[in-house]
Amino acid sequence: MIREKILKALPKQLEGVSGTVTEIERYAIHDGPGIRTLLFLKGCPLRCKWCCNPETQQGYAEMVFLEEKCIECGRCLNACPYGAIAHSNEKMTVNKSVCKKNCFGKTQHFPCTVNCYTKARQVAGELMTVSQAFMEISRDTSFYEATGGGVTVSGGEPMMQPEFVYALLRTCKENWINTAMETSASGSLKDYEEILPYLDVLFVDLKTAKPLLYKEWTKYDGNEALAVIHKLSEIAGKYATEMYIRVPVIPGFNDTQQDIRKIGCFIKEKCRGFKGIELLPYHKLGRGKYKSLGLNYELNNIEPPSEECMDKYYEILLNMGINVCKF
Ligand code: SF4
Ligand code: SF4
Repeated sequence: MIREKILKALPKQLEGVSGTVTEIERYAIHDGPGIRTLLFLKGCPLRCKWCCNPETQQGYAEMVFLEEKCIECGRCLNACPYGAIAHSNEKMTVNKSVCKKNCFGKTQHFPCTVNCYTKARQVAGELMTVSQAFMEISRDTSFYEATGGGVTVSGGEPMMQPEFVYALLRTCKENWINTAMETSASGSLKDYEEILPYLDVLFVDLKTAKPLLYKEWTKYDGNEALAVIHKLSEIAGKYATEMYIRVPVIPGFNDTQQDIRKIGCFIKEKCRGFKGIELLPYHKLGRGKYKSLGLNYELNNIEPPSEECMDKYYEILLNMGINVCKF
């Protein structure tokens, strides 16, 4: 919940508000109008089985090991104060039961990443102030001006850090930078009410219109998710924020024509103020990251939907009189 102190702060006082950022990506063209800078924030309460950014799920900094980048130089062997790292069978291993994933908290760095020159061991999650983040964002102002672009906050779930998001978006808006946010609709409605006046574009994920399936595949209560999405479409209209619904199309989860029709019916009935719907086909890009975090990926056996299938789903929505879009 955003504190009154932050809501009433003067612009200068917002500069010191801090948040944990996983990554900043420049020159993005699919997450809002024009050329954009994407800020991926840490922390998400959902656990979507297809998540392609698992390094953003935990709210704290994590050590990531990218095996393909490791040249077995051995520099990290003695760096770990707990002796968690070993070299066996011609590869570097971390004993998970010995590795203290919170070793970052004491020193503000992971000792094993410090001298890894190939970045095989690296940190996911950096504490940044609004002032630091704004400096990074404003480096690309000329691109925003030329293309109508701006900043998009993503994640993770940005609404898990509502004060940082509020302070950053307000700062950007007050400096005439276009703002967008991608959310899974899992934040507090009160926080959305505070943030939307500073938001030009809102992308809301709708995973399925079947509440029980929602919970099974994402851990988010489906009835609550659908109720928040409904409410958001009302609030977005109030603040003239353009709201788009995004549906990840996942084989075996929501990829039948009946699933798409059901989603269309929900949107027509409950999201009157939205501008358009975009379907995002499942892809395999995040699979390798699971291993680097020591996590298990459950969807190894599924393939992305074909272009023909995606065209058919768009056709179904168009035939229902729903505005479709592709960023
Ligand atoms: S320091 Fe980096 S490159 Fe060297 S062995 Fe450790 S992980 Fe591999
Ligand atoms: S994250 Fe910390 S505890 Fe784990 S291997 Fe690296 S230095 Fe050791």
